[in-house]
Amino acid sequence: MHYRDFHRESIANPDEFWRREAARIHWETPFDQVLDRSNPPFARWFCGGRTNLCFNAVDRHLAARAQQNALVYVSTETGIERRYTYADLHAEVNRMAAVMRSLGVGRGDRVLIYLPMIPEAVFAMLACARLGAIHSVVFGGFAAPSLAARIDDAKPALLVTADAGARGGKVIDYTPLVDEAMARAAHAPPKVLLIDRQLAPERLNAPYLVDYEPLREQHYDVQIPCEWLESNEPSYILYTSGTTGKPKGVQRDVGGYAVALAASMEYIFEGRAGDTMFTASDIGWVVGHSYIIYAPLLAGMTTVMYEGTPIRPDGGIWWRLVEQHRINLMFTAPTAIRVLKKQDPALLRAADLSSLRTLFLAGEPLDEPTAEWISEALDKPVVDNYWQTETGWPMLAIQRGVEALPPKLGSPGVPCYGYDLVLRSEHTGEPCAQGEKGVITLGYPLPPGCMQTVWGDDARFVKTYWESVPGQQVYSTFDWGVQDADGYVTILGRTDDVINVAGHRLGTREIEEAISSHAAVAEVAVVGVNDAVKGQAALAFVVLRDANAAASPADAQKLAAALAATVDRQLGAIGRPARVHFVPMLPKTRSGKLLRRAIAALAEGHEPGDLPTIEDASALLSIREAVSAGNG
Ligand code: AMP
Repeated sequence: MHYRDFHRESIANPDEFWRREAARIHWETPFDQVLDRSNPPFARWFCGGRTNLCFNAVDRHLAARAQQNALVYVSTETGIERRYTYADLHAEVNRMAAVMRSLGVGRGDRVLIYLPMIPEAVFAMLACARLGAIHSVVFGGFAAPSLAARIDDAKPALLVTADAGARGGKVIDYTPLVDEAMARAAHAPPKVLLIDRQLAPERLNAPYLVDYEPLREQHYDVQIPCEWLESNEPSYILYTSGTTGKPKGVQRDVGGYAVALAASMEYIFEGRAGDTMFTASDIGWVVGHSYIIYAPLLAGMTTVMYEGTPIRPDGGIWWRLVEQHRINLMFTAPTAIRVLKKQDPALLRAADLSSLRTLFLAGEPLDEPTAEWISEALDKPVVDNYWQTETGWPMLAIQRGVEALPPKLGSPGVPCYGYDLVLRSEHTGEPCAQGEKGVITLGYPLPPGCMQTVWGDDARFVKTYWESVPGQQVYSTFDWGVQDADGYVTILGRTDDVINVAGHRLGTREIEEAISSHAAVAEVAVVGVNDAVKGQAALAFVVLRDANAAASPADAQKLAAALAATVDRQLGAIGRPARVHFVPMLPKTRSGKLLRRAIAALAEGHEPGDLPTIEDASALLSIREAVSAGNG
């Protein structure tokens, strides 16, 4: 097959193209319309069709692969390893669904999942899918106020949590965080289901806490039928950062998502039933949703779920997992590879990697030295792929299952089938010439699997994503790119105030809001700068109410630590700035707009390009001085 024809066909005849792909999943009731485009920019896929994600991911495989491993769980934090066949997974999901139902969860209800990387997280997500409830997984690294904001937006009927998470040998108590979030939230659910791993030294005993284990025993043999949902009913909400401080709930459907993931498994990942896939991400991120859980299970594969870091007990752990579990496909973020690159290369060479076919990398730009190192070290294809929470599956990749086009260093590849991806001028909205930098946009309709809307806020969906390119109703990715003559696109960073730290997307506004909540702070600007390992790091430039508060180096250090702790408390440690600089003022335009791009340029040690007229030029000078003093 030729990629070009395949892609062209998917854009020219989406109805035909996706009708064919839809045969990959089970439809309890067939759809009567492939695509409803009567209300742009909204698109509805497989209208009238009724299906269920859990049925397709679990039940459907019982006939042929009940005894095949569905989920292999490895935790280097607790030393626990568990294997669940499809039959086991089916039983555990039924138990979890029965427990949830006994706590009042039904079709259309939201269930907020705040869990570490444990098998119960998979059971809980699939149990929601089974019941027709809408899961919203919140990354375990988020702090109480962030959790509370998500509770208030999703208004869940139930929250599922654990006593603790663990990272790098450190136990993180969850119950105090959940307790604070429950107290802060206006829409706290009546009950919190607790998975007690017996990790936390002391466990809170709030009245709303319900222990999972005794309930699981009680519902051990209960069978819960799959709720057949219309294809366009929501399956989940996943919050992601944008330009404003308020996270957006990316809402996804059921049927379109199932079809898109199943197709991606063949065309992009070349995964087949019976294969083993190890996606080293977290269930709190979209890569975890799509490629730890749904896609491998939809395809009848074995998925490996890992709790731990890539370098504990040593930097060979992931390669040994490949050997031990005969892993065929591996997927992670470039940051992890940069971390592994610093390890003893003998650790990689010592493992038998013969089962591994391909390594997939996504979430942030893949720099050339890292790409070269890992391709050489593994001597296997390394497939960079570009996408975002909103799309749910790759937009750009070398689609080896279609045609193994040659990779080009620095580019994640060519547009994936289904995506009418066009680079456009930010000023005119017109398509860019070859080699010209532009905003990466997608034409209407987005393919199946992409976000349907912002949860509870259609207007925000339209305004944010579909009205930001002048004169065109196209979807903006908020990424810059450039496309070459062969169609390969290179990503050149975000057009908005989102930064990407170790593959985690963070809104600089969210970090600024957290820092501003400290009493000493008058004003703050947070920008992202290049970081050798994490891709980007957040730097904070802070104007104090009382400049003397940071007059001595010791005071400045103490205050910087206090601000970092504030971010930990408000947002979570993932938002903690790498460095805090105290400055007398921030550079702004005459109308008071912060000059973030100029600050970011100075912070990286180069001169800002063209600047609008600024209020006080000395502000730029003070940024420059702060940065060079900080580096010296
Ligand atoms: P998230 O929604 O957290 O997955 O973050 C998505 C953003 O990460 C994208 O909009 C890009 O800015 C960036 N990103 C994801 N994958 C890649 C990639 N392969 N190359 C460059 N940037 C990427």
